[in-house]
Amino acid sequence: MNSQPDTAKPAEAGSSRRWEQPASAGLAYQTLDESSGASRFALVNGRIALPDAIVEGQAVVVEDGAILGLANPADLGSETEQLDAGGRLITPGLIDIHIHGALGHTFNEPDAAAWDIVLRENARRGVTSLVATFAPEPIPSLARCFDFCRRWMAEPGPGTRVLGAHLESPYVSPAQKGALDPTAIRSPGDGSVEPLLAYADILRIFVLAPELPGALALIERLAGLGIMPAAGHTSATDQQVAEAMRVGLHHVTHIWSAMSSTVREGPWRKPGVLEAALVFDGLTVEMIADNRHLPDTLMKLAYKCIGPDRLCAVSDATNGAGLPDGTRYRMGSMEYVVGDGVGMMLDNTAFAGSTTLLNQMIPILNQVVGVPLVEAIRMATLTPARAIGEDASIGSIAAGKRADLAIFEDDFSAWRVMIGGRWTNSR
Ligand SMILES: [Zn+2]
Repeated sequence: MNSQPDTAKPAEAGSSRRWEQPASAGLAYQTLDESSGASRFALVNGRIALPDAIVEGQAVVVEDGAILGLANPADLGSETEQLDAGGRLITPGLIDIHIHGALGHTFNEPDAAAWDIVLRENARRGVTSLVATFAPEPIPSLARCFDFCRRWMAEPGPGTRVLGAHLESPYVSPAQKGALDPTAIRSPGDGSVEPLLAYADILRIFVLAPELPGALALIERLAGLGIMPAAGHTSATDQQVAEAMRVGLHHVTHIWSAMSSTVREGPWRKPGVLEAALVFDGLTVEMIADNRHLPDTLMKLAYKCIGPDRLCAVSDATNGAGLPDGTRYRMGSMEYVVGDGVGMMLDNTAFAGSTTLLNQMIPILNQVVGVPLVEAIRMATLTPARAIGEDASIGSIAAGKRADLAIFEDDFSAWRVMIGGRWTNSR
């Protein structure tokens, strides 16, 4: 339940949606026209999630698409329009750095209608930025996807902003393929990466297995191009991870999913990528916090070892997100099914991504894992922003950052979502 009644209602009629504010609410509220976008306005009567605390009694002031800062509502001049958040939680817009799709579509479809559906659905959930994540396919198909991604980023549609491309690359360990298409798997040293690196301007995250021949040279090259290499779908030892970190690796893909852990060789224990992710301070780590991929004990272990400033909540959501159990969906040439609230291989041998979008991972982190709410929000905002080097412009409610904001109900459904100072019309 909200501590305040729902006092702001969007009017139904007309293309210009207005929020009618009651005169009796104590402040001189004005009507906010969502389509015209007043250049300066303030969100009042919300619980504001800052990186280290949730504060009340302050207003978030927005001007020209950026956050101007916090202010005492009594100090706001009459020229500043005020919007009542109704006691709800105001957070930075969520940032999903590992997401494939939703509602039957993925980013592997180079098609505006498909991307529009995925990005509007994410915006509706309070996700204001994401890194469009691609499952491995033959190289020419991936190049077509990246072409489309580049065009989309140059002329974005409505919905969640695309920060770039995240490739679960073909250069992964066949032994750790998980739900990836095995026929797409390649060797990093076979020269096939060149057409992909022609998209260095949009590529942000590149998943590979650091133990493969040629992988270290590729990691070094990626880091030099400003693309974040990530260890994923990998059988590496902890020592191979350490070696890769010396040439630019600092990120690990979905912990516990498709990665090596400790094995015995005779009497000797050899740690794997899992233990490296838990122990090495120089790594940021993704966790699919859908309460399906990982039982609560493992999520608690990751949180205890890695902490909220290096552990990123990611959805790894597929086109199954938002679809009911039993729905079949395809990514590339592979077919999967939604079952028990998660994506599954048809033979039930492996998960195939989640069906939970990022907003619903915050209550799981808070209530199931026991992460304080302010840290759970940080794991879906500032921590992923920092992991990909975007924290100067997004990820927290701070002066000078983009006005990407979400206002959540207590169940973490989004009540209103703002991207770049403009309310989305995705409800
Ligand atoms: Zn994935």
